[in-house]
Amino acid sequence: TMETEKVSPSRSETLFEQARAVIPGGVNSPVRAFRGVGGTPLFIRSAHGPYMTDVDGKRYVDYIGSWGPMILGHAHPEVLAAIHSVIERGTSFGAPTELEVEIAELIVSLVPSIEKVRMVSSGTEATMAAIRVARGFTGRRKIVKFIGCYHGHGDAFLVKAGSGVATLGLPDSPGVPAEVSQQTITVPYNDLAAVEAAFAAYPDDIAAVIVEPVVGNMGCVPPRPGYLQGLRDLTQKHGAVLIFDEVMTGFRLARGGAQELYGVLPDMTCLGKVMGGGLPAAAYGGRADIMDCVAPAGPVYQAGTLSGNPVAMTAGLTTLRLLQQPGVYEQLDRQTKKVSEGLLQLIRKAGLPATLNRVGSMFTIFFTDGEVTDWDSASKSDTALFGRFFHAMLHEGVYLPPSQYEAAFMGLAHTDEVVEATLAAAERALDKLAYH
Ligand code: PMP
Repeated sequence: TMETEKVSPSRSETLFEQARAVIPGGVNSPVRAFRGVGGTPLFIRSAHGPYMTDVDGKRYVDYIGSWGPMILGHAHPEVLAAIHSVIERGTSFGAPTELEVEIAELIVSLVPSIEKVRMVSSGTEATMAAIRVARGFTGRRKIVKFIGCYHGHGDAFLVKAGSGVATLGLPDSPGVPAEVSQQTITVPYNDLAAVEAAFAAYPDDIAAVIVEPVVGNMGCVPPRPGYLQGLRDLTQKHGAVLIFDEVMTGFRLARGGAQELYGVLPDMTCLGKVMGGGLPAAAYGGRADIMDCVAPAGPVYQAGTLSGNPVAMTAGLTTLRLLQQPGVYEQLDRQTKKVSEGLLQLIRKAGLPATLNRVGSMFTIFFTDGEVTDWDSASKSDTALFGRFFHAMLHEGVYLPPSQYEAAFMGLAHTDEVVEATLAAAERALDKLAYH
């Protein structure tokens, strides 16, 4: 069916204009602004299962899942019911609750390397706290991070960062004092020799190596075989804390995250996204001797008014419990394989360059012929072509991440029917691309 072009502005366009007058860039988090692909971001009214509906009433298949949390699909009835029942008893107490003990016990039982865990409200808080604790524990100053990895917006991490900072071309942010960024050593991902060289340059001053065990924030980039074990060996040898930032990968790639999948145990782990079930919750945890440095058990300070909030805890707990059902991770893997390989085939058939990276339910199709193993190779992608593909897909009702440098996330609501509809939409989108 033919669609007539709208001449009057859409509701999203009107809202975006209003938003830009009162919110910087019109959004409360930069990647939402569509800067990586151009155009006007969609304002969302509601979401159910694998679908989101915008304020103009158009429905999209969602491959972002709120950037990771919505692994069960949107508005999951059991999560909503749990939230409703908890909310009736009050929303915040500033005092400990039973729910916090339950979720801590569940996390400790699921994540192989975590013996003790502290709740916070965002992934940013989790990573900032983790490096503070690592510095307090080791008495050292420097951290090693990888070019193109993103660990939230803490000062120490806005050095050659991925995600929105990469999309906007602002890898080093103004406002971070040089004294702070100098303490962050950046090296390429998937390159153990570079990490070894960092330890050789600062043998007694590296407190921690922090890594996305599978990168999501330069698009999806998996670790080379042996890479994570190599990081484990090097940090052990040099007395540095190994931190896995599993904000994206935790409870997504396996019940125990990337560390379970690859069989490498870090000293500390950062969690977020899935563990909050779509509400603001995150956590950091690790070896008991390290975590016991945290106040009030130890001297390293970290706190939060809404930390362990009961509404967020129940959304997270319900989500994590539902993920314990048999076959969940097999289904995620199977459906993501189907949709990502299907898309790859169609794009290549259309004569466009494409490379697929996928681990479980995270994937990215890079518009490049070359292998993508780090930021250098990821940044060779044709981002203009990606933007055209993104908009053609959006027009056909499929909402992909609005940047080449973000991973797509699948969920349990992405059934065969949804996958088939996505591939049919891609065929139409690519047909149209060919004529423009
Ligand atoms: N670490 C990683 C690996 C992330 O992907 C993100 C967010 N995308 C963060 C940390 C920061 O989390 P938040 O946005 O909740 O602060």
